[in-house]
Amino acid sequence: MSTASKPVIIIGTGQAGTSVAREFRKLDSDTPVLMLSSDDGAGYYKPNLSKAYATGKDADGLITADAAKLAEQLGVEIRPHAMAAFLNPQEKTLRVGAETLEYSQLVLATGAYCKRIPFEGDAVQRLQSVNNRLDYSRFRAAADNARHVTTIGAGLIGCEFANDLVSAGKQVTVIDLLSWPLGRLLPQQAGEALQAGLAELGVRWRLQQSVQSLTTHGEQTSVTLADGEQWDTDVVLSAVGLQPATDLARAAGIDIGNGIVVNAQLLTSAADVYALGDCAELGAGLVLPYIAPILHCAKVIAKGLVGEVASLSLPAMPVVVKTPACPTIISPPPVGAIGEWRVSGEAPDLECRFEGTNNELLGCALLGEVGKQRMAYQRELPPVM
Ligand SMILES: Cc1cc2nc3c(=O)[nH]c(=O)nc-3n(C[C@H](O)[C@H](O)[C@H](O)COP(=O)(O)OP(=O)(O)OC[C@H]3O[C@@H](n4cnc5c(N)ncnc54)[C@H](O)[C@@H]3O)c2cc1C
Repeated sequence: MSTASKPVIIIGTGQAGTSVAREFRKLDSDTPVLMLSSDDGAGYYKPNLSKAYATGKDADGLITADAAKLAEQLGVEIRPHAMAAFLNPQEKTLRVGAETLEYSQLVLATGAYCKRIPFEGDAVQRLQSVNNRLDYSRFRAAADNARHVTTIGAGLIGCEFANDLVSAGKQVTVIDLLSWPLGRLLPQQAGEALQAGLAELGVRWRLQQSVQSLTTHGEQTSVTLADGEQWDTDVVLSAVGLQPATDLARAAGIDIGNGIVVNAQLLTSAADVYALGDCAELGAGLVLPYIAPILHCAKVIAKGLVGEVASLSLPAMPVVVKTPACPTIISPPPVGAIGEWRVSGEAPDLECRFEGTNNELLGCALLGEVGKQRMAYQRELPPVM
């Protein structure tokens, strides 16, 4: 096969993979593009996973296009249930099942795995976590028969699921090590406002607590905290963060940090291999597992794939936390930034500015009605890179 006729291969049909395909097709309508997915390759908007339960949407109800339809829309070939098992960047080949595929250029859009904490107890295998439609389908089936759900982790995903589940009439208890929800992203006053908003809806909080064990108690799971408190619950949802999916790249000898390390062109340390999305480290330990950065990265990669040189720049991209109980928008300051939070307003309408030593805005959290100022803040915030 000549280089010209070898396809661009994109591993992953999530937001990252599909965004690259979409942007690439705007610049090149001819070069064959093959997308591989270890799942069914259907298109869906992942952020909807944590707000689907209360609206009665099942996993299939979230699909926007099945793999065949998505392939047609993007002008590419999609192979569902095709797990890329081995990458040889020197020979530019990829092994999928018994087949060896050749590529001209490759995009790694392999996403992330849910982190798992090795808890003690015989019910650990019952832990649920949700990072894709299949996970959601399993979780939903369990939650349908549940009266009480326990969520471990009060980060973005834990809080969003808590809001969704309690809105659907479930009893929900949330456990976190920190003193208030979104403890790494919000100042205390804002975290406590979010906590109060969700508590008003019915969420029971166990903060500054860790899980000692999860043990089987008939159909239920017995949760024991480090301080000895114990209760029975029907479902335990683990929402303790994500781990970039780097195995394929690591085994191929590609540089890995917190994720697959890329340069400003989104190129990895291997020639003609790009990475973006939840699997990629965009610079100095920076992994941004959100939709907005993916859209910027996809444009840069598409240009690279057609031989243009573009460099990634990222504006501030505040994230909307899907907790209607206390609407919250956050743009956390860079890790290690020197400065302090200044909070004004009255809960739940709080304006939180993280200001540097010259009073310059480095991050923000906008709660309740203050969220209406989002665009003004977005303009004032410094670019991420
Ligand atoms: C519940 C939830 C709510 C969220 N809410 C928000 C929100 O409100 N706002 C926001 O900005 N972000 C949100 N996010 C984050 C956002 O959805 C993700 O950052 C984004 O969808 C990641 O897309 P991705 O394509 O990188 O990864 P994924 O969607 O995980 O896609 C990875 C793809 O790679 C494939 N794959 C992996 N390994 C292989 C292999 N070896 N061979 C073949 N295929 C492979 C998988 O099958 C899959 O198709 C949320 C995430 C979750 C889980």
